[in-house]
Amino acid sequence: MSKVVVFGSFVVDLMARSPHLPVPGETVKGSVFKMGPGGKGFNQCVAAHKAGADVVMITKLGKDSFADVALGTMDELGMTKESLFYSDDVETGIALILVDENTSQNEIIIVPGACNTITPEEVAKIENVIKESEYVLLQLEVNQDANELVADMANRYGCKVIVNTAPYAKISDEFLSKAYMVTPNEVEAEELTGVHVDSLESAHEAAEYFYKKGVQKVIITLGSRGVFVSSDGREEIVPAFKVEAVDTTGAGDAFNGGLLAALSEGKDIWEAVRFANGLAALSVQKMGTTPSMPKLEEVEKFLK
Ligand code: ATP
Repeated sequence: MSKVVVFGSFVVDLMARSPHLPVPGETVKGSVFKMGPGGKGFNQCVAAHKAGADVVMITKLGKDSFADVALGTMDELGMTKESLFYSDDVETGIALILVDENTSQNEIIIVPGACNTITPEEVAKIENVIKESEYVLLQLEVNQDANELVADMANRYGCKVIVNTAPYAKISDEFLSKAYMVTPNEVEAEELTGVHVDSLESAHEAAEYFYKKGVQKVIITLGSRGVFVSSDGREEIVPAFKVEAVDTTGAGDAFNGGLLAALSEGKDIWEAVRFANGLAALSVQKMGTTPSMPKLEEVEKFLK
């Protein structure tokens, strides 16, 4: 099994449910409050770790009690904390999630905080980790200049860059040219390529856009419909597993973490997608993000 890296965000999810969402100026008495670890990078790393990957999380925290949410989870799960950075003056990132308990509609404010302030000096310090790794998985939730430096470094050492283009943000052609693989969802794929992905043909067209930029493998996640995969001239929509979904938040993170874990085990892209699909299908059957990520044994049992 090869070593892999997730370079990305950590935020604390602060979720409150109330009978309705407040309008400007209104205070609403809520019914439930929950706090837990979140951020696309962290969720993906937890998914990969629980799926058995030898994975290192690289992110930046504040020097505050919210950082303990990350550290506590990492201790509990036995994850390595050797590549974390700390900001002296910026708080740990947070996401304020308001949920209407009647309609399930939500309003979210995400403040990436410390993980949006990763410096070139800090990136320079992860050189050894990147050097030893076969894949690094990036998202678009940290400051993009840091992502670009990591992609450069990874290219220099032959560490393959996987870019999960979430949440959508404009990215340069140069950045895309450094990606070995991209994994947008259908909305991000449309925003990036201008192609509305609703069939094998349109997915092919979107994949062509990425190939022209220098990307080598394209995966587009399609929610409960499954995943479009394009690799070495073979293109297919691999259907999702039919399950009773109770909470699809973080399905994309589960998929990306599962994909990374499977690739690090030497599975080919088709086997890796099957594994990631299974892992994501298990995660949508449970509430929450990191707590809903299944363990390797559960995924293996599900896929038998
Ligand atoms: P999110 O933003 O909620 O994390 P996403 O939009 O990034 O999700 P999706 O494309 O919705 O990601 O889902 C990723 C993968 O998760 C899908 O390709 C599929 O494998 C799996 N998945 C999502 N929803 C379901 C579902 N209802 N049933 C089974 N599998 C699902």
